[in-house]
Amino acid sequence: MKKIQMVDLKSQYDKIKEEVNAGIQEVIDTTTFIKGGKVNVFQKNLETYLNVKHVIPVGNGTDALQIALMALGLKAGDEVITPTFTFIATAEVIALLGLTPVVVDVEEDTFNISIDALKKAITPKTKAIIPVHLFGQCANMDAIMEVANKHKLFVVEDACQSIGSVYTFKDGRKVQSGCIGNIGCTSFFPSKNLGCYGDGGAIFTNDDTLAAAMRAIANHGMVVRYYHDMIGVNSRLDSIQAAVLDVKLKNLDTYIANRQAAAKAYNKAFANHPKITIPYEFPQSTHVYHQYTLKLKNVDRAALQKALEAKGIPAMVYYPVPLHMQKAYQDARYKEGDFPVAEALSACVISLPMHTELDEEQLNYITSEFLTAINNQ
Ligand SMILES: *Cc1c(COP(=O)(O)O)cnc(C)c1O
Repeated sequence: MKKIQMVDLKSQYDKIKEEVNAGIQEVIDTTTFIKGGKVNVFQKNLETYLNVKHVIPVGNGTDALQIALMALGLKAGDEVITPTFTFIATAEVIALLGLTPVVVDVEEDTFNISIDALKKAITPKTKAIIPVHLFGQCANMDAIMEVANKHKLFVVEDACQSIGSVYTFKDGRKVQSGCIGNIGCTSFFPSKNLGCYGDGGAIFTNDDTLAAAMRAIANHGMVVRYYHDMIGVNSRLDSIQAAVLDVKLKNLDTYIANRQAAAKAYNKAFANHPKITIPYEFPQSTHVYHQYTLKLKNVDRAALQKALEAKGIPAMVYYPVPLHMQKAYQDARYKEGDFPVAEALSACVISLPMHTELDEEQLNYITSEFLTAINNQ
């Protein structure tokens, strides 16, 4: 049996090796390392895939979020609402820009932002919402867009884990995740669903004005060469990463199908176990399974992880500490106990190996060892 890893990028590469190597070689031969060339090709292909007007390639997903917020013209003290159960980058950029992060609890089933909590958190200072499509399935965008329209708030989607997932609105409209709000942000970190071989990210929007501003901000606030209209940053996707991504984009639907097939095999094995809750699939969104995350009941999670490790099965906790309990984000407004759902999830979730190359032998082994380890407790 192949070694089991959380993510198996080598086996994936072996299948696209020739195409990827040729793409990288082309970049080196043309020496178009930054801007132009492969970056433009990939940008256009991603715009077509997502059916969105503008894709702005940037240096990573965190930069994407930062640049998005910079383009909204917010001022110090403006409040931005985001879920407390997410990766730190989401809140980090809010704090870094001198804006005020307002964190809220999440839904127990989807792990995504709670709509009731969102509504309660809105004040006259609220300017934007950053929903996170956690683990690969969209937050409740019907409700979020309704709240945003009512209160005239910007919506910046953190689609770093959800590229390729499709949201179906109650009226039947289907939109790619990241292309629903004013702006969407994604990451091409190697382990993400569309990952490159280094750092990378992108911003999506259908708004021409925001697109122009974000392109300029990502390039030192420059529109005409050496004339700087606003304070910007330096954040760009390089051509070698774009060459890798362009090959992988062609395979993205297959990659998603492989992840969904692995999730289905896991679900079949774990359904109806009294100590395990399998992932809830939100009917309005496809789930692209960036992570396959279970909830455990009456299980010693640390001991379980140890038992699995002894069998060569990695398992991770995403995320062990919600934002409001992180040291760097200590804030008089929040204390332990304020967000009971997120806190309970942090204590009971576990993510199993999930990638595009899991085969039947591995899945059978993981599921049977996982059940044995739980039943032995
Ligand atoms: C990965 C990730 C980011 C940050 O992306 P980087 O490319 O690592 O900067 C932001 N938000 C979420 C939810 C992520 O999973």
